[in-house]
Amino acid sequence: MPELPEVEVTRLSFADRIAGAVVQSVRLGQPLRWPLGCQPQDLVGRRVVAVRRRGKYLLLDLHPQGLLLMHLGMSGSLAFELSPPAPGRHDHFDLVTSRGTLRLHDPRRFGAVVHADSEQSASALKLLGRLGVEPLGQDFQAAAFHRALKGKRSSIKQVLLAGEVVVGVGNIYASEALFRAGIRPTVRAHRLSRARADRLHAAIAAVLEQAVRQGGSTLRDFSNALGQTGYFQLEAQVYDREAQPCRQCSTSIKRIVQQQRSTYFCPACQRA
Ligand SMILES: [Zn+2]
Repeated sequence: MPELPEVEVTRLSFADRIAGAVVQSVRLGQPLRWPLGCQPQDLVGRRVVAVRRRGKYLLLDLHPQGLLLMHLGMSGSLAFELSPPAPGRHDHFDLVTSRGTLRLHDPRRFGAVVHADSEQSASALKLLGRLGVEPLGQDFQAAAFHRALKGKRSSIKQVLLAGEVVVGVGNIYASEALFRAGIRPTVRAHRLSRARADRLHAAIAAVLEQAVRQGGSTLRDFSNALGQTGYFQLEAQVYDREAQPCRQCSTSIKRIVQQQRSTYFCPACQRA
């Protein structure tokens, strides 16, 4: 599943090239997770002003009005190409513009492209309204992070995944950040001290920034923004390393299941 760093790298892969492009036509394939929310021809003639990211949504700002919210779901990838091949059976959305075609390839169709009149409209708020703070920006502050954790009684891993405190820390990066911070994934969020919350805060930012950097450095190889490379070559400390020796202390990495998702940790480095 594409996580926040992959979505950010996808954004970086085409944001500059599509800025200023005028929509010429829209092609829809099979239904995605949610309907487009407007007639495809309503988009024709509008200009793509900028591509922003909010959590795992990409926001294409349109001129004179409106925006498109795009989500990659479980298996989606976006490619922006001057003259793409004829759409295949898993290509479910083409935004044909004066500068190229932005195509959503999504075999499992949990992805979506949704039009909204503005970020404050009901259709946008439904998707963006409950999202927590962005981890890769100035808004992600240690003191506020600790305060927010104080109000959560579930395990810290679940709280990170829920995305209401901080957005976009998915399964891989939650395990990795908790390892870096030396925190057991099962600890209840409200029990973390300020010092430990500070360490986790720093670890989350560091892990995600590293992933974006690594993705960015492979950008030049991206002919198909995500589809061909899949996940970045993150040097995982614990994720997917069950029974392998911890890179810090050689203890066997443990795997547990929290809310149907695998969690990996080192029982020695993450004692509590
Ligand atoms: Zn260890």
